[in-house]
Amino acid sequence: MESITPARVRFAPSPTGRMHLGSARTALYNYLLAQRTGGQFILRLEDTDVNRFVEGSEEELMHGLRWLGLQWDEGLDVGGPYGPYRQSERKEIYLEYARKLVDSGHAYACFCSKERLDGVRQEQMKRKESLHYDGTCRNLSKETAGRRITDGEPYVIRFKTPRDGSISSHDALRGEIIVENKNIDDYVLVKSDGWALYHLAAMVDDHLMKITHVIRGSEWLSTFPLHVHIVRAFGWEEPEWVHLSVFLKPSGKGKMSKRDAADALDSGYSIFITDLEKLGYIPEGVLNWILLMGWGIAEGEFMTLPEMVQKFDIDRVNPSPAAIDFAKLDYFSGAHIRNLTNEDVSSRVKPYFEKAGYQVDDRKMIQIIPILRERLVTLDDALFFAGFFFKDDIEPALADLIGKNLTAAESAKIVQRSGEILASLDEITPELAEPPMRLMVDELGLKAGQVFGILRVAVTGQAISPPLFESMEIIGKTKVLERLKKAIEILASGTE
Ligand code: GLU
Repeated sequence: MESITPARVRFAPSPTGRMHLGSARTALYNYLLAQRTGGQFILRLEDTDVNRFVEGSEEELMHGLRWLGLQWDEGLDVGGPYGPYRQSERKEIYLEYARKLVDSGHAYACFCSKERLDGVRQEQMKRKESLHYDGTCRNLSKETAGRRITDGEPYVIRFKTPRDGSISSHDALRGEIIVENKNIDDYVLVKSDGWALYHLAAMVDDHLMKITHVIRGSEWLSTFPLHVHIVRAFGWEEPEWVHLSVFLKPSGKGKMSKRDAADALDSGYSIFITDLEKLGYIPEGVLNWILLMGWGIAEGEFMTLPEMVQKFDIDRVNPSPAAIDFAKLDYFSGAHIRNLTNEDVSSRVKPYFEKAGYQVDDRKMIQIIPILRERLVTLDDALFFAGFFFKDDIEPALADLIGKNLTAAESAKIVQRSGEILASLDEITPELAEPPMRLMVDELGLKAGQVFGILRVAVTGQAISPPLFESMEIIGKTKVLERLKKAIEILASGTE
């Protein structure tokens, strides 16, 4: 279904919680279709439900989208010709369209009280029927309804779903969807406080904003037939409907729950976009990961955003649920870090160092990145591997300085001998230092791992670091020799 005409698509979140992988993927697919066809990507806020409003979620959404690189062409913040893009500022528009539906006989005012509706529901439950409005106000005459409204009775507006026949429409991923009308409730379109619900508001907005493709989550599949009815009742052309799959928990068994989200955090992952940013994942990796959760192309395919735009084809989106696989997130994050220039990695890891209290020397950072980048899965891994480069002093523990199968005294001798060799060099570079050091290892009849392990702790303060001699080169000869001396002192304290 590759569109030839530019697509106008929208991402229409509600500010009711945190931005998770599911919403990010919906936004991404919308963005890609707009870019692919030279169309527009619109950000609309569906914020009419004040009871579900969560402070800060709008900001988090916009930040998340921008962090991912999914800048919208129209909508919140940026404006555009079809605004306002915030549904809470469009109340009158929805009322006007609701009235049109009432006038054309496709909707009606319903005066049933909550108590009455509760009673109806109880009865239906007892009879094991599916819950639905029983139609009491469906056939009130216009005059009666008008009089009751003038008398000030509270009312809602319901859609008057046809009782007979069926409705059929097309979903780009799932084909023809046919539902019998008798199974579609007379849904409320406008609440008694005058606020339109999603079913009406979104259809009206999609029409007025000239949306060509509605790409949204599969939770809307159940009310999709109602939406088709509404669009047709107005006599509007239907957009292309695309209902994406859900994400399953990593085990593949069931949808992600709050509990699963918490478990993910405990193991250093998250399903929330701004958490992934804090954890040091890079947006390119996150995008590649979510792109492939539900897109039927080669599983491990590495793609940058421009490449995704080139290759995106909505026909190849997969309607079956995708299990979240965090190992793949690690893979893509690492792969995308390796794809960046050293300068880019350097400027991206810098904030993590600064946040941890390090004074970052940019020149040094640029030297470090080439020997570090292969090891990075997240940007803040850099702190773990390379924080020592920015410390004046390191404090290796005695136990860590003692080589495998060696005593403290033996280890001290090795450090002493290494210091002499390194001191004799003009400078410490891998080319100059490694050959004589390996020779020494052979002469002592030891293994390289034993000796270099001691030196690594002595020079970097940690057992895992970037390559030893490259690290020494960056630290510089003077400091390396100082650190070796200090290691000998620590080891000596262990032999007394
Ligand atoms: N406001 C809806 C939500 O947050 C958007 C659904 C849609 O994309 O139409 O789920």
